[in-house]
Amino acid sequence: MRGGGELRLADVESSYDAVVVGSGMGGGVLTLKLARAGMNVLLVEKGGLLDLAPPAPGEPIGRYMYGMMTDEARLSFVGGETKFYGAALYRFRESDFAAVEHEAGVSPQWPISYADLEPYYAEAEELLCVHGSPAGDPSEPSRSAPYPHPPLPHDPKVAAIVARLEAAGMQVAAIPRGIDYGPGRPCVLCPTCDVYACRLGAKMDAETAAIRPALATGNVDLLTQAECLGVLTDAAGTRASGVLLRQGGEEKRVLAPVVAVCAGLEQSVLLLRRSRNAAHPEGLGNHAGMLGRGVAGHTTSVMFALVSASEFGARHTKTFAINSYYEGAPDWPYPIGVVQAGGQIPIWEGVSRLKRVPVEIVAKRSLVCFYMNEALPTLRTGYVFEGDAIAGETPPLQNVRSFARLRKLAAASFTRAGYPVLPARLKPSLWHKTGGAVMGADPASSVTDTTGQAHEIAGLYVAGAAVLPTAGAVNTGLTIAALALRTGAAIAGARASVAEAASVQA
Ligand SMILES: Cc1cc2nc3c(=O)[nH]c(=O)nc-3n(C[C@H](O)[C@H](O)[C@H](O)COP(=O)(O)OP(=O)(O)OC[C@H]3O[C@@H](n4cnc5c(N)ncnc54)[C@H](O)[C@@H]3O)c2cc1C
Ligand code: SF4
Repeated sequence: MRGGGELRLADVESSYDAVVVGSGMGGGVLTLKLARAGMNVLLVEKGGLLDLAPPAPGEPIGRYMYGMMTDEARLSFVGGETKFYGAALYRFRESDFAAVEHEAGVSPQWPISYADLEPYYAEAEELLCVHGSPAGDPSEPSRSAPYPHPPLPHDPKVAAIVARLEAAGMQVAAIPRGIDYGPGRPCVLCPTCDVYACRLGAKMDAETAAIRPALATGNVDLLTQAECLGVLTDAAGTRASGVLLRQGGEEKRVLAPVVAVCAGLEQSVLLLRRSRNAAHPEGLGNHAGMLGRGVAGHTTSVMFALVSASEFGARHTKTFAINSYYEGAPDWPYPIGVVQAGGQIPIWEGVSRLKRVPVEIVAKRSLVCFYMNEALPTLRTGYVFEGDAIAGETPPLQNVRSFARLRKLAAASFTRAGYPVLPARLKPSLWHKTGGAVMGADPASSVTDTTGQAHEIAGLYVAGAAVLPTAGAVNTGLTIAALALRTGAAIAGARASVAEAASVQA
């Protein structure tokens, strides 16, 4: 799609400087970084462009994710999951990079420090148009530059809730959000954002913020509705050499010295597994049995703070969070987690028929909040393979008592502020999964090195949720973007060094 039209597999060049597989946060941002470094990139995406007409007058601005999902095409679109994300774009806290003791075990140390990633966080915030402020957030890490944009304004009714929480002694902070808001900008702070795709192109998802600017460089071909079937290596298995692609009934090999697997956590793992060859019989990057392992995430649930006897009305609610328990509490030595105002999501559509009406009545009168804490990886958490498929999964370790404490503290905050919290408890789920192709300094316990390059296979990179060694307790999207920028800088730097050496020799 270099010039704008749909690209067919037959029209794709036979070789590129790099092939990027998957166009979500990891792949989209990496593509932009490589294109801006002057590399010729093929971006391959299994899904198509989510071509949304602008809303008709009175229609919601967002298109609801669940209404668009089918079994065959679960969130496979250019932009990946970010087309529907809440754009809550947090830096991990400094402690997330260190080994931290939790109730259920130790969250392992990262192979890089917060300081190593800080410049890329700043670059990612600029790229994704992040609005935020460190005020009211004791867990906020140090930064080399202020947030690129001021925090989003609260809706008046949300501002009143924040004022009452603060009057009751709570520290309340703005949620850093990646949306294109401000004078002359397209975002209108509508109620249908989180779990919806924006029809005004105002959400800074991977397509809007990274892929469109990447295409504008003229260095990128975007191949949609095309699946990467396998990553190819040289005969010795020491270098990536290209990919095998399929579009419709057609298959084609495309050569490239750099291949980046950015297909989302599970699909990246499966792609590396099914690319196995004689030199890597258990899968690319799986020399130590770590492919599919080290899976972590967030234990998450939903809380309804009853804020109004009548319906609360359609509002943009996702603007504040309570992060004061990130590192623990005076009477609890372990990290506890975070509370975040959620968007206005029709949660009742996802419950049993019997509960649907009462949940709808409650949700429409409540501020829906998420509360989440870290679920820990170990060397065993993650997937077990049978052939090319996943045969079983060991979930990350849940910090169950810390999670119960988080709920109690969050509920007490709202109650103190005069908003009863309804006893309805939804079963906790695992969100924002990370790992499966974890980066690390030690090849015996990781799949890639600290730049995202597979140990033992030059030119094979992984970007996206799969490389994160832990999930912290804040949303992972900005960290995925920052790591992808760092990986892109490493790829471009290595290429420049080779070119310089060649010119010296000549
Ligand atoms: C409703 C929702 C709300 C969220 N809200 C937030 C939030 O507020 N903040 C936050 O930080 N995170 C949020 N997230 C999570 C965030 O969107 C993901 O963590 C992030 O998008 C993961 O990026 P990724 O690049 O690893 O993968 P993905 O975004 O999943 O992208 C992977 C892409 O690869 C493609 N693909 C897969 N296999 C192949 C193949 N073989 N060939 C070609 N293409 C392939 C897929 O179609 C997909 O487009 C949310 C997620 C959802 C679903
Ligand atoms: S809040 Fe802004 S970015 Fe989000 S869907 Fe509405 S208009 Fe789009």
